[in-house]
Amino acid sequence: MDEVAPGVFVATARMDRTTTTVVAGADGGCLVIDPAVTVAELSALASWLSARGLRPVAGWSTHPHWDHVLWSAPLGDAVRYATPRAAEVARRSRPGLVRGVRDAAPGHDLSLFARLRPLPGPEIPWRGPRALVLAHDAHAPGHGAVFLPDTGVLAAGDMLSDVEIPLLDMESADPFGGYRAGLGVLAGVPGVRVVVPGHGHVGDAAALRRRIAADFAYLDATETGGDVADERLTTGAAAAWLRAEHDRQRALALGELTGSSPARTPE
Ligand SMILES: [Zn+2]
Repeated sequence: MDEVAPGVFVATARMDRTTTTVVAGADGGCLVIDPAVTVAELSALASWLSARGLRPVAGWSTHPHWDHVLWSAPLGDAVRYATPRAAEVARRSRPGLVRGVRDAAPGHDLSLFARLRPLPGPEIPWRGPRALVLAHDAHAPGHGAVFLPDTGVLAAGDMLSDVEIPLLDMESADPFGGYRAGLGVLAGVPGVRVVVPGHGHVGDAAALRRRIAADFAYLDATETGGDVADERLTTGAAAAWLRAEHDRQRALALGELTGSSPARTPE
């Protein structure tokens, strides 16, 4: 666990550099955003919280993908919120989510999996630092990033990553337009000092600006069928699945997407 700002902690899992964010609140309560990802890692998270005298009083799932709707009994029975759209999609797409978690991180208690309460308001109700919800439909329907104005921390969900290209919601009616709109929402948040992507490395304000520019450049190039010189794709560390997703997104933009390239379970 790294303390990325006073009272804000981030753990990074091995699988896809998936992050978990913990925000300390009043009287030992804490807000847990996207606890992930394996059974062992959730168990370690619960132990760490307990050792620090913290107990989850609220949970937040940034979006309805299997690796962002996890929970475990030792984390307790805190209310776990998501945007209304995300909660509805999680309910409706439960079979696919269950398949995803069973394939990639088996052994979770499925009775606690993807049980989300819709939060209609713009702020998570809890006794702790203000936690503002920034809802949009980039990457997944009802994606809700969380901004903590007191510390300038933006828990971005699966956006603004330094290791993953923008991953579009391919089911959306307007995948590129929706992504641009969501990116615009995040780019317009004043006072971000720390960005925590759902997968990747925590960054400062300069890193945030670089990632926003890189993401818009990626969308521009991919949507127009131009050359994509994105180091998240070209470095040796770029995963084969990420390059495959890029190929699908490029094919979508060019109207060439066929059923021959089956989609990866969205993460
Ligand atoms: Zn995702």
